Amino acid sequence: MTITLITGANKGLGYETARQLIGRGHTVWLGARDAERGRTAADELGASFLELDVTDEESVAEAVRVVGSAGGALDVLVNNAGIAGGFVPVLETTADQLRHVFDTNVFGVVRVTQAFLPLLAASEAPVIVNVGSGMGSLAITTDPSRFEHSLTGLAYPASKAALSMLTSQYAKALPNVRVNVVDPGYTATDLNGKRGTQTVAEGVEAIVALADLAGATVDGPTGSFRDRNGVVPW
Ligand code: NAP
Repeated sequence: MTITLITGANKGLGYETARQLIGRGHTVWLGARDAERGRTAADELGASFLELDVTDEESVAEAVRVVGSAGGALDVLVNNAGIAGGFVPVLETTADQLRHVFDTNVFGVVRVTQAFLPLLAASEAPVIVNVGSGMGSLAITTDPSRFEHSLTGLAYPASKAALSMLTSQYAKALPNVRVNVVDPGYTATDLNGKRGTQTVAEGVEAIVALADLAGATVDGPTGSFRDRNGVVPW
């Protein structure tokens, strides 16, 4: 049995990831900060609801307690919860706006990852999938042939670049855990007012593939940045 936690899974890519991993036999904790939305989503999918606000230390600690008391180990952690922060022009973005976005997209991942490490350590083949973005890639956002080159912003791209580095450093610090970061690609969700050009099924392809390493092998990739077509440049 593979026990999997997905943060921010009441809608969008997190919800679709939960749906597909349940289809592959995972036992899923569906994390959501809003109890009503989270419970509804969990009931629809046959997941267990886990109240979890990644910006709130107490909420994270309580979530660890709930998962721990239900069984002990966590095999897969998908750090999916994220916010766009409103796409404020670069020169108008303040440090406070940056801090707000980082609190979810970067510090939230550190909070959740650190807190769940003891439960991941109890798994035979633990896996962490961080949901990053091509907008966090210096190689992609400086390449004029890429669509991401035309999207400017400070907080969101910087937060996803930081998440890529967190992934690389966690992968080195945790040799027994497969730790990877994914670019879902531009996907129609509430994050972008449903303007994304991919379906959520396309958007979660790489997330699901990397999350489903658990139990299969401990030799899977780690410290890599991938999308549904393969390796992505940092
Ligand atoms: P979404 O539909 O807006 O979903 C975001 C999810 O994160 C929601 O469930 C939201 O909960 C949750 N969330 C936000 N702040 C949270 C917090 N403090 N604690 C717990 N949950 C929180 O957007 P999405 O497109 O599915 O985004 C999922 C991930 O994919 C994000 O990390 C995003 O940056 C990344 N991504 C998306 C795209 C794309 O094109 N869509 C591309 C690249 C990367 P509420 O419902 O309570 O707000």
